[in-house]
Amino acid sequence: MELKNKRVLVVGLGRSGVSSAIFLQEHGAKVIVSDSKAEAQLQKEVPALLDRGISIETGRHGERTFRDQDLIVVSPGVPSDQPQLQHARSLGIQVIGEVELAFRFLKGKVLAITGSNGKTTTTTLVGEILAKSGKKMLVGGNIGTPVISLAGQSTPDTMVVLEVSSFQLESIEQFCPWIAAILNITPDHLDRHHTFEAYVAAKARIFEKQQSTDFAVLNADDPTCVALKNKVKGKLLWFSRKQRVESGAFVQGDQIIFRQNGQEQPVLGRSDIQLKGEHNLENVLAAVVMTMVAGCTPQQVRQAVKEFRAVEHRLELVATINGVTFYNDSKATNVDATVKALESFPANIHIILGGKDKGSDYTVLNPLLRERVKRAYLIGAASDKIASHLQNSTAIVRSGTLERAVHQGFDAAKPGDVVLLAPACASFDQFENYEHRGRVFKELVQSLTPVTTGERS
Ligand code: ADP
Repeated sequence: MELKNKRVLVVGLGRSGVSSAIFLQEHGAKVIVSDSKAEAQLQKEVPALLDRGISIETGRHGERTFRDQDLIVVSPGVPSDQPQLQHARSLGIQVIGEVELAFRFLKGKVLAITGSNGKTTTTTLVGEILAKSGKKMLVGGNIGTPVISLAGQSTPDTMVVLEVSSFQLESIEQFCPWIAAILNITPDHLDRHHTFEAYVAAKARIFEKQQSTDFAVLNADDPTCVALKNKVKGKLLWFSRKQRVESGAFVQGDQIIFRQNGQEQPVLGRSDIQLKGEHNLENVLAAVVMTMVAGCTPQQVRQAVKEFRAVEHRLELVATINGVTFYNDSKATNVDATVKALESFPANIHIILGGKDKGSDYTVLNPLLRERVKRAYLIGAASDKIASHLQNSTAIVRSGTLERAVHQGFDAAKPGDVVLLAPACASFDQFENYEHRGRVFKELVQSLTPVTTGERS
């Protein structure tokens, strides 16, 4: 892709927008960046761009700005059906996302991971296994490091491990991973994609440009994934924790087996996995398939999995105080992740739920709440909706804030109980993001005062 003297508009000044603008300018393009936020809200980003002589439009998306371009690069936060973008397309202007732009400049082989849940955990684990196997690797994408910032560091022998979201997949064209995995698909982001079908279609685009020599990895236990098998153009491998698969990874007794071309190899034992929950077994199985295909040995995979601990804010053990154990699963921003968190503990759970609703159906939680949860502590803007969905499945406490929820949970919990932050909602009503929410939770837990025996009722 030739960028010299091209007029390029970058829409959205998030991390990937800033990195794209800098990359484009360094490659000789005439760059302008447009963000609908006011300049005052972009204090961190604006100076770095102005210093480089990049033009910036803030507070609006001017019509002319979108008209006079050779190329538009959109950030994942910007819906691809936005009117200005549709108009630009109708004028014949190419509109792509940051992942697509990066793909045109990346060297090496791409291993891409998508799914509703488990992307960051699996991406991190795949990166660790490759690194510990001595492979040259880079990790980026939705996980935090913009893909475009990896382009300059990549070489033909690099394995580039990418977490890709449905938003990023909406704006690809040629993006073609050597190994592509879809971990699971459950309803999420329906506020942006409008229908579940549109969301599934965006995820399935990860396979769109693959060739017969590439590899596709799907979850055999997830009906929506199974239904996507006809979209696969490369070699199909499965992972399953419930059944043997023809090609891929599965569980047999205590062993995780990898099978390819009729050959079976034991890779690791279930007891080698330090992560909690059956959902994390799925993430490990997916990582096993991807790294075995990428040429790692069972010993290398086993060693790296043994050393791998939960990524921060993903069912992360915080502390045990007076016998009450606190888990931070602030990244459980949708109902399915909360289901998985609840399934990870057999009983005696105090769960903190709530935040910003994403159009979710919380009634799905009722069977597990009834079976395993002593109390649900509701916080944030979604409290009323959640309360109306929970019916009488468990006792409800209207905590309002995370601080009150932590204290009320600690006061009510008995030794052996679990206080779990797995809110099933986005965080933006009360926090900057889920990381902020998780950090506040951990600080609140650390500041709880242990009581000596006899003081607690
Ligand atoms: P993502 O990057 O897709 O959001 P994460 O690894 O950050 O995935 O995990 C997000 C949330 O989903 C966390 O609450 C985590 O405990 C939960 N989770 C992780 N893996 C899975 C899985 N395979 N299925 C369902 N939930 C999962």
